[in-house]
Amino acid sequence: TIKIGVLALQGAVAEHIRSLQQAGAEAVAVKRVEQLSELHGLVIPGGESTTIGKLMRKYGFIEAIRQFAADGKPIFGTCAGLIVLAQRIDGGEEPHLGLMDMTVVRNAFGRQRESFETDLEVAGLDRPLRAVFIRAPLIKEVGPGVEVLSVYNGEIVAARQNRLLACSFHPELTDDSALHAYFVAMAEEAAAEKSVNQRGV
Ligand code: GLN
Repeated sequence: TIKIGVLALQGAVAEHIRSLQQAGAEAVAVKRVEQLSELHGLVIPGGESTTIGKLMRKYGFIEAIRQFAADGKPIFGTCAGLIVLAQRIDGGEEPHLGLMDMTVVRNAFGRQRESFETDLEVAGLDRPLRAVFIRAPLIKEVGPGVEVLSVYNGEIVAARQNRLLACSFHPELTDDSALHAYFVAMAEEAAAEKSVNQRGV
C-alpha cells in the first residue's frame, strides 16, 4: 500500500488522515523529519501558514521537504499548506518551501467570506467537489509549468505542477475524498516509476 504522511506541526491533521484512509492509503501523522523516508507522499494541511512555516524551520522540515520533492515524491498543500508551497506570497512575506511556481494571496476572499462552501469543478475529477473555504488564500498568478485545476469566481483555487498539488480550500472537511484519491494516485504513479528506475530499466 501507499503510505502518505500528514505534516502534524499545526492544523487539520486528523481529518486528512481519515480522508486519505478513505482514499485507500495508509496515513500517518508526521512530527519528525526522519519519518519522511518511509513515505510515498506528504500532505501539508490547513491551519496558519506563518505558524506552520515557523515550526517547519525550527524542526528542520524546510530542507528535508525540499529534498523529499527533489526525490520526486508528491506533496499536497491545502489552504495554509498551499501558501507554504508557494514560491511567492503577495505582500512581500518571505516564502516558506518556495517549491511551486505561483504567487498566492493570503486571506483573499474578504471579510464576509470568513468561510463558505461551494461545489467546484476540478480538472481530473469526474464530478464537482464540495469545497470548504476558511480564510482561504487564492492563487494570483502561475508560471508556465503549472496547470490550473480549478477556478472559482475567476480566481484560481487549485493547481498542479508535476508532483506538487495545491488547493485553497479544505478537501478534508467533507466526506468526499475524491481529491485525496487523486493525490494517492499521484503517489502510486511516483512510487511505480521509482521502482522501475531502481531496477535500472
Ligand atoms: N488564513 C490562513 C493563512 O493565511 C490559512 C487558512 C486555512 O488554512 N484555513 O495561513
